[in-house]
Amino acid sequence: MALVNEHFLKLQSNYLFSDIAKKVNSFKITHPKQKIIRMGIGDVTQPLAPAVIEAMHKAVNEMASKETFHGYGPEQGYPFLIDAIIKNDYESIGVSLEPSEVFISDGAKSDCGNIGDLLRHDNSIGVTDPVYPVYIDSNVMSGRTGIWENGIWSDVVYIPCTAENQFVPELPSRRVDIIYLCYPNNPTGTTLTKEELKKWVNYALANDAIIMYDSAYEAYIQDPNIPHSIYEIKGAKKVAIEFRSFSKTAGFTGVRCGYTVIPKEVSATTLKGERVFLNKLWHRRQCTKFNGTSYITQRGAEAVYSPEGKKQIRQTINYYMNNAKLMKEGLEACGLQVYGGTNAPYLWVKTPDGLSSWKFFEKLLYEVFIVSTPGVGFGPSGEGYLRLTAFGDHDDTIEAIQRIQHWMR
Ligand code: PLP
Repeated sequence: MALVNEHFLKLQSNYLFSDIAKKVNSFKITHPKQKIIRMGIGDVTQPLAPAVIEAMHKAVNEMASKETFHGYGPEQGYPFLIDAIIKNDYESIGVSLEPSEVFISDGAKSDCGNIGDLLRHDNSIGVTDPVYPVYIDSNVMSGRTGIWENGIWSDVVYIPCTAENQFVPELPSRRVDIIYLCYPNNPTGTTLTKEELKKWVNYALANDAIIMYDSAYEAYIQDPNIPHSIYEIKGAKKVAIEFRSFSKTAGFTGVRCGYTVIPKEVSATTLKGERVFLNKLWHRRQCTKFNGTSYITQRGAEAVYSPEGKKQIRQTINYYMNNAKLMKEGLEACGLQVYGGTNAPYLWVKTPDGLSSWKFFEKLLYEVFIVSTPGVGFGPSGEGYLRLTAFGDHDDTIEAIQRIQHWMR
């Protein structure tokens, strides 16, 4: 008899975005002519950079002839892309990495979700709250979260990040073995300074813990004092794994490419107390369960680092960050409290008049025809907030802000 992994049955069936989609669909049935502006889901709207398209076309043409055809590539990625990443994303900020420390993948979601394969089911986990749901759900699947009670998982340490603590997570009072940090943060759009991040690296060093550092939005950082990588902090190479993505940096949400850095020194312990290096285990895991990202995709990602590619992706990031600025200014002008949006494409808006997240979501949908994301969907500390994204079309963004301003008056 085949027995199911019952941890899957604990997953909460009400997935946030499908709940939102249901509400939007029922609105559309009753208001078929109304123009809805979507500021909910974090997908991009602008096309790939011309340099990326050109490189991908070229790679497609290579596939057409026997001499230049590419079959299976290295599971960890092609050296041309790994070298470009090390040079442009790390050496430029004073971090040196070896090629074998970088693993190319089909995106950060797979890697954030799969990394737990390397660690025992009985490690304790800590997450900042609100949180990108993948960190939690992937741990539910492997049995690390305990039971779901009153809107939280019994074995997860939730570290609140709210306006009251300026969205700076405090070190946990209960020991955690694995800590998920995402900066710039989804959903709050806030960042940590080097000093604040250092606190976490020191915690991990002192407690033999591992930090899963998701910097999928690092390209959006505008402030030169905000760290782009956790490896800018001394000692982090011993305790941190970093996830990055081309999705938001270069519009690869539909193309699929990201990478994970696992420095050689990062290790965990066996029950007998032997140290095991996670880089080797991940290499073994990827060789077994992953056959690499497509050659065409990796050539496209490489072009992100060409001089034209860099210029072009920067233009698109500026386009989104200009949306974020207009949104922030426009919403603040009508008296709303708005966080994030200066080093990230997300705005975290405090609901007015003590409204719940879902109530404010519904008001925006039914009264201004704007789709947002209720903050509580990202965790208990998200109650009383709403997430808006700056990934929309510029004209739609302006229209959405004008609608809200008109409505708030
Ligand atoms: N990490 C965070 C914090 C995200 O918000 C997202 C996507 O929204 C991802 C990872 C997933 O990125 P990818 O498209 O590379 O899988």
